[in-house]
Amino acid sequence: MKAIVKKRAEKGLVCEDCPIPICGHLEVLLKVKQVSICGTDLHIDNWDAWAKQAMKPPTIIGHEFSGEVVELGKGVTDIEIGSRAVVEGHVTCGACEQCLSGTRHLCPQTYGIGVQRDGGMAEYVAVPRENLFILPDSIPDHVAAILDPLGNAAHTALSFDLVGKDIVISGAGPIGSMATAIARKAGARKVIVLDIRKYRLDLAMKMGATHVVNVAEENLDECLKNFGVQNGIDVGLEMSGNPEALRSLLSHMRPGGEVALLGIFPHDVAINWGDVIFKGLKIKGIYGREIFRTWFQVTRLLESGLDVSPIITHQFSALDFQEAFKVMHEGACGKVTLNWDLV
Ligand SMILES: [Zn+2]
Ligand SMILES: [Zn+2]
Repeated sequence: MKAIVKKRAEKGLVCEDCPIPICGHLEVLLKVKQVSICGTDLHIDNWDAWAKQAMKPPTIIGHEFSGEVVELGKGVTDIEIGSRAVVEGHVTCGACEQCLSGTRHLCPQTYGIGVQRDGGMAEYVAVPRENLFILPDSIPDHVAAILDPLGNAAHTALSFDLVGKDIVISGAGPIGSMATAIARKAGARKVIVLDIRKYRLDLAMKMGATHVVNVAEENLDECLKNFGVQNGIDVGLEMSGNPEALRSLLSHMRPGGEVALLGIFPHDVAINWGDVIFKGLKIKGIYGREIFRTWFQVTRLLESGLDVSPIITHQFSALDFQEAFKVMHEGACGKVTLNWDLV
């Protein structure tokens, strides 16, 4: 089969012929349909400091994918061949306190499909049965391939009650833009999205933002006043990983406001703790998706009319992956998907 591989401990990726994976005990084999490229895949392509410590090549990459079950490993009896499915990319230990308490996403022994074991940028992938989420017919393969980041967006945005609230989303990348659509769907009054890139702010508007602010050019205080946000921000979603963006967000929160943090900061960040303490802010860190609560939540949101289709801006054949990665690296895009139906 064809697969996109991090071949050696150096920059770059190759597409090459690999053996079809053997489907192990309690695993299923999927024929891959659609894969979307994640920021994580760009780190792996670049072979940056994070990638170097995270993986040991050779590894087939890709963790955001949809497929069809074509083989069942020993011990799997509850799934039908031909089922359409997506995959939670975090494989967890199943034995620690977090796993046993229904919070698998917080397992400290997590390893990643497409990072620490072979992933889905391939014609076939073997995955643990317990990581499989069976798709309803209503969700097409290319949308299914973005359920993982859509889950990150939902996990973040729906951490707090949004009904009638004024929300600020810092960072209009694909997850920030998908969180925009979710916040509108969940009943927010205003969804204000901040970024410094015009392309991405336009994308946030397409995803339903009521206002966008280019924070490199506009003054946020003035903008909030003009938008009618009198008392400060009710709920802040930090999705940029930019230290200055976090400080600005905290300073504009209303007393009693709530903040969810998904963006990963490049280093330790000093903040004005007075903003947190004296305003009694509630801050929640977000990692991954609640397994599988978030997956049910996003499929039901899609079935009830949540439209995330504008976020898929580019679609390529898997064989053109170099071109697809180039688009991703350049950044003038939303989600970029690869079609693995090669024949
Ligand atoms: Zn991802
Ligand atoms: Zn565990």
